[in-house]
Amino acid sequence: MAQGDEHDAPVIYLHDIRRQYRQGESVLTILDGAKLALWPGQSVALVAPSGSGKSTLLHIAGLLESPDEGEVYVGGNATSTLSDADRTQLRRTEIGFVYQSHRLLPEFTALENVMLPQMIRGLKRSETVNRAKEILAYLGLGERITHRPAELSGGEQQRVAIARAVANAPRVLFADEPTGNLDPHTADHVFHALMQLVKATRVSMLIATHNMELAGRMDRRVSLQDGHVVELE
Ligand code: ADP
Ligand code: MG
Repeated sequence: MAQGDEHDAPVIYLHDIRRQYRQGESVLTILDGAKLALWPGQSVALVAPSGSGKSTLLHIAGLLESPDEGEVYVGGNATSTLSDADRTQLRRTEIGFVYQSHRLLPEFTALENVMLPQMIRGLKRSETVNRAKEILAYLGLGERITHRPAELSGGEQQRVAIARAVANAPRVLFADEPTGNLDPHTADHVFHALMQLVKATRVSMLIATHNMELAGRMDRRVSLQDGHVVELE
């Protein structure tokens, strides 16, 4: 296991995660004792073929799905015993998620899309405006804040989605093939935005990607084999 500072707890620790899907008579074992520690400020690429369980792993690590067995620790604390309300609260404050498609709300501007997670968390509108503007400007979108998603390019949409994901200053950002729908040049731009955030905020990051060049620029690369997480290189 790649270690961070020995005094730090992993931001996320997946312990012996097991996940099966039942399909009629048969049972499909997707994760079979998967283990992964993600350290503060670390960026990790998850590179594995389609169907190997990347999205499943990210959803479990992001507390969007529960494993059948095993434990997800966030900042050293077990999450399986939390109430649904506490788990939701933890997810809102500690975890950001970016999907392959931006999943922005079409009726709202870029600014409002980034304000929303903060308002849901209970911050005042005026506070959320300032932070949303700051993050969008940081990601090079200062001139686009009043645009709706349909009025933005694919790369801009994805950068707004990243801004939304970090709006509540999470400890960890999960991204599920975030550049999968983008041309190489735009993918590079979006990836740069992600790496810029890691450097500036020390947020940890786990990114599922098929892009080996981008993966090569991250701190660490892991894959999935037979339901286990394996280190690459
Ligand atoms: P990846 O993201 O690496 O492409 P996924 O985690 O999406 O892989 O899926 C892993 C496997 O689990 C695939 O074979 C997929 O068909 C199966 N699977 C995913 N979600 C479900 C589900 N809700 N029900 C049944 N099978 C599923
Ligand atoms: Mg997937």
